[in-house]
Amino acid sequence: MADKITVGHVHMSGCTGCLVSFADNYEGLLTILDKYADLVYALTLADVRHIPEMDVALVEGSVCIHDHLSVEEIIETRKNAKIVVALGGCACYGNITRFCRGGQMNQPQHEGYLPIGDLIDVDVYIPGCAPTPQQIRNVCVMAYLLLKGNDEQKSLAGAYLTPFMNLAKAGTEACGCDIMTQVINQGLCMGCGSCAASCPVRAITMEYGKPQIERDLCVKCGACYAQCPRSFYSFDVVNQYEGIIDAINAAMQP
Ligand code: SF4
Ligand code: SF4
Repeated sequence: MADKITVGHVHMSGCTGCLVSFADNYEGLLTILDKYADLVYALTLADVRHIPEMDVALVEGSVCIHDHLSVEEIIETRKNAKIVVALGGCACYGNITRFCRGGQMNQPQHEGYLPIGDLIDVDVYIPGCAPTPQQIRNVCVMAYLLLKGNDEQKSLAGAYLTPFMNLAKAGTEACGCDIMTQVINQGLCMGCGSCAASCPVRAITMEYGKPQIERDLCVKCGACYAQCPRSFYSFDVVNQYEGIIDAINAAMQP
């Protein structure tokens, strides 16, 4: 298809698990690459050495601010991409790299890692460690509809992506405490257990119908807040759920 969007995977200080999660769409990934997106940059998968211009940059990992090449790379990414997506907890919130203190050979001075939103403007967040394959797929399809679709599709894609854009504007810090301060303490928790199910390190358990957070286990990925149905999701999107699902299902037909 001539009118594909161009997508790149930019690997900062990440573990490649976000890219693996993208690949975990199996045939769905092939459908995306066949119909909607040309992968123009991905050091793990393709022999393109420098960051090209692209419609969507999926950026995985945080930025080591003591590694000037990494700092240059993230700035270059912002210059070259129309839409910058922070893919996964490290890019959005620092995640496990928040605990880096340096002192390890052979780069003991590499002691400060920041989420990409602390260095550049980020358009869309996909939190999670790793983010789900479906979430990455949905954002790719919606980015395609936003840039190449008809007016109706553009509007649907805008509605779908807006909460994730708002999440990007909301900041670069996350912790299990977010569900405490922003959901439970606001009287919004309905005890559904989605936060506990989404936590990759099982730092959350449901006690008497409410989440209890073991803060020493939390790796600051932001998944629990992102998956909580009483956190950032808007009724504008929830009310368009069927249209959104239909659009994604139709798009993913091989
Ligand atoms: S409690 Fe679990 S899901 Fe929530 S931010 Fe911490 S590690 Fe992530
Ligand atoms: S995911 Fe469910 S249980 Fe967890 S804080 Fe949100 S509403 Fe409460």
